[in-house]
Amino acid sequence: MSAPKPSTENVIVVIRCRPFSERERQAGHKKVVKIDPQTASISLTNPKTESDIKNFTFDAAFDEDSRQVEVYDATARIIVDAVLGGFNGTVFCYGQTGTGKTFSMQGISDVPDLRGIIPQAFHHIFDHISHRSTEKKFLVRVSFLEIYNEEIKDLLVKQTKGQKVSGLDLKEHPETGVYVKDLSAHVVKSVPEMEDLMTIGNKNRSVGATLMNENSSRSHSIFTITVESAEPGEDGKDRIVAGKLHLVDLAGSERQSKTGASGDRLKEATKINLSLSALGNCISALVDGKSSHVPYRDSKLTRLLQDSLGGNAKTLMIATLSPASYNYDETLSTLRYANRAK
Ligand code: ADP
Ligand code: MG
Repeated sequence: MSAPKPSTENVIVVIRCRPFSERERQAGHKKVVKIDPQTASISLTNPKTESDIKNFTFDAAFDEDSRQVEVYDATARIIVDAVLGGFNGTVFCYGQTGTGKTFSMQGISDVPDLRGIIPQAFHHIFDHISHRSTEKKFLVRVSFLEIYNEEIKDLLVKQTKGQKVSGLDLKEHPETGVYVKDLSAHVVKSVPEMEDLMTIGNKNRSVGATLMNENSSRSHSIFTITVESAEPGEDGKDRIVAGKLHLVDLAGSERQSKTGASGDRLKEATKINLSLSALGNCISALVDGKSSHVPYRDSKLTRLLQDSLGGNAKTLMIATLSPASYNYDETLSTLRYANRAK
């Protein structure tokens, strides 16, 4: 029997451009990005030759005025609904450091208007549960990990200071597929409990300073929520439905030359680029529909996401962009990456 044909509708690709920062505004940087939300298109002007304008179209395009709720309602909401219906899903942000990946994924949890996709998903999931708790029983579990230098680290276990923790192993189960051995899973019963775990995990992330952004994270983080529900079936046995959602904040996509990396930093950058290109290759093989081989095995990131990318799973990519001329090269490369995934 052949595997079900991946459907392109299962991959949604959108772009989001952040506003100019105060510093960029004061420095008088030129804007090279023009977004038309109506047609979901963008034109990018080459600052060196203004007649060179490149156009791209996606499933949606959000400009600098877009609000967090608007982005969620038009994109992630569909994926979370699918997960509540028993499908798997992945949401990830791809882009250069400083373009709004973390802002889009996490935002600021305690300011309702600034909540990113992760905290909005928490509210969405628990709203759903509270409306159905009389008919069904729910079990929600959370894991949070980081991939740093191709090593997997559990962000929700206490780390002893100074002690080098070795990375967790990826294993494969014949029925349930790829999993991270010894990764902790935490049962949660409310939005605040989920938010607490997100905060704890963020504190445990590895951060490195690059010239681009001092707090730039050089690692990929994956916040995973599984939702299981059970309701009495007609035969008296419980009918169980389970869905899994991966919420991924990728490391910056910028090439190392621009960040002035050397030594360990350069080694890190090489590994980051490897996972990002592996992810791009998997998604493009999936949407292409013609490739019989999806190269999941090329990186830990793609192996981990394997059961939530392709097949019946729903994938959302948000490519984040800077509006400024000095980021032109990186913006073009992000747009090309996103374009391959359509
Ligand atoms: P990244 O995670 O891609 O490195 P951040 O999410 O940290 O980037 O964003 C960099 C800065 O830009 C932060 O100060 C963030 O608050 C701001 N920012 C990013 N996107 C937006 C947006 N859409 N609206 C307002 N501010 C934004
Ligand atoms: Mg970030």
